[in-house]
Amino acid sequence: MSTMLVQGGTVVSSTGRTRADVLVDGEKIVALLAPGQATLGVDVAGSVDTVIDATGRYVIPGGIDAHTHMELPFGGTNASDTFETGTIAAAWGGTTSIIDFAVQRTGERVETGLAAWHDKAAGNCAVDYGFHQIVGGVDEYSLKAMATLADEGITSYKLFMAYPGVFYSDDAQILTAMQKAAELGLLTMMHAENGPAIDVLAQQLYDQGKTTPYFHGVARAWQLEEEATHRAIMLADLTEAPLYVVHVSAKQAVAQLAAARDRGKNVFGETCPQYLYLSLEEQLGALSSPGDGPDWGDFEGAKWVCSTPLRSRAEGHQAAMWQGLRTNDLQMVSTDHCPFCMKDQKELGKGDFRAIPNGIGSIEHRLDLMYQGVVTGEITLERWVELTSTTPARMFGLYGVKGVLQPGADADIVVYDPAGHTAIGVGAGRTHHMNMDHSAWEGFEIDGHVDVVISRGEVLVADGEFHGRVGHGRYLKRGLSQYLL
Ligand SMILES: [Zn+2]
Ligand SMILES: [Zn+2]
Repeated sequence: MSTMLVQGGTVVSSTGRTRADVLVDGEKIVALLAPGQATLGVDVAGSVDTVIDATGRYVIPGGIDAHTHMELPFGGTNASDTFETGTIAAAWGGTTSIIDFAVQRTGERVETGLAAWHDKAAGNCAVDYGFHQIVGGVDEYSLKAMATLADEGITSYKLFMAYPGVFYSDDAQILTAMQKAAELGLLTMMHAENGPAIDVLAQQLYDQGKTTPYFHGVARAWQLEEEATHRAIMLADLTEAPLYVVHVSAKQAVAQLAAARDRGKNVFGETCPQYLYLSLEEQLGALSSPGDGPDWGDFEGAKWVCSTPLRSRAEGHQAAMWQGLRTNDLQMVSTDHCPFCMKDQKELGKGDFRAIPNGIGSIEHRLDLMYQGVVTGEITLERWVELTSTTPARMFGLYGVKGVLQPGADADIVVYDPAGHTAIGVGAGRTHHMNMDHSAWEGFEIDGHVDVVISRGEVLVADGEFHGRVGHGRYLKRGLSQYLL
């Protein structure tokens, strides 16, 4: 077992910041020391195997991205990041744990889907990984399977009010699953959009010749997110099941969450960087500019087709997401990382936006994009750590081991340089490690930089180089949520 001292930095937690050195023994943090070398007469820096210099920089717990979809089958293709490429990209960006979604599609068995996800991930991850379970077909078999999930370290499961015929659950199925979840203590994660209504609107738009990516955003109207969010909250209320609404993008949906929370309910919301920065007008409605890589014309917007969709900036949804993060009506920021290339993948929907695979790749940039919110004054430094690491750990039963720098915790540590700079994108001299032929974040400039990334005492990234290895990442058996009221 080797020892390490992360020296000279400012340790930031969800509740404050302090100058401290972090002492690591093997995979664990063993102490936070007041700055300086002579602790009880021992020159600590001189007696450890490795000293990491963090002078002038922030020392934070490794990021936890609680919403990723490596290799997700969607619309006749698979998300382009494997567990290998996706977790390497995560490491580059300071994320040392992910929680991916094991998939049961309608008509399949939960156990089969979960076993398949273990097969895909085992031995292939550069950072630690856990699973949520997608229950895409609520029936007597899946309800029975839910009872065994917690024993396997899967304490949250996801239902879909969208995607009829693929993942969709109707109200009767949602009610039944929530009753079961309440009994078992599982957290219900909800994709809250009224899928059957969306499908009607999408068909009508298509019939009118409105086939470009922009109309993906028009069909998935905010009213259908607000309505589904409200319905999910009411069903959760009735069954006393805690509810976590994923990828919230409509300001009206945030208002529904806030109202439920004001009534004292265990209702939580997550948003994603794309809903904070990107919009219907600027991205989904984009035209590619000449000389800017392949000319996709008005299909350029396909790069940003995801669900829930990017929403109108004129309507103020982005500002409402930042506000929700400040007021804790939204508790977390995950990426919903689900990358597809333009070539051969997004392209499937040329001439019909309904056939564009839904998803954006962001796993590498979440810490940076959220840090930029600190720079611009949207959130505090402490809130940055809380949103990207501490609350994800608490929400999904990892806290104490992950999400905090304290004795006994895993030595998942990021050294972040507020004087550094990160240029995001696939262009020359820019940063992009995800397995995609474009970046949804091309041209974004971040006033900060992930300098060093450590996972369980192993340096994954330092000096601009990847030192990690596939197979380092370990399966995380999660406990029950530690965030409930
Ligand atoms: Zn979803
Ligand atoms: Zn998702």
